[in-house]
Amino acid sequence: MLDGRPEPPFRVLMAGYVVDFHHRNACPRCQPDGSCRRLTAAAETLRAWRHRPDHPPPHHTAPDAGEQQRPAAP
Ligand SMILES: [Zn+2]
Repeated sequence: MLDGRPEPPFRVLMAGYVVDFHHRNACPRCQPDGSCRRLTAAAETLRAWRHRPDHPPPHHTAPDAGEQQRPAAP
């Protein structure tokens, strides 16, 4: 797994499992109105993981795209 991405923590893997589970089923904590504390907590865990400031998502840009988009100096 040397693709440059860090291995997600166990809690993130579990959060992904919980969210995926709720796409198909309701868990014992699911309320009649559809809300669920487990699903809310899992979604928050995944959101925090995806938006972690020290590991931004990779961008597939040309090597010198930034140079070409920079305005030319007078
Ligand atoms: Zn639930």
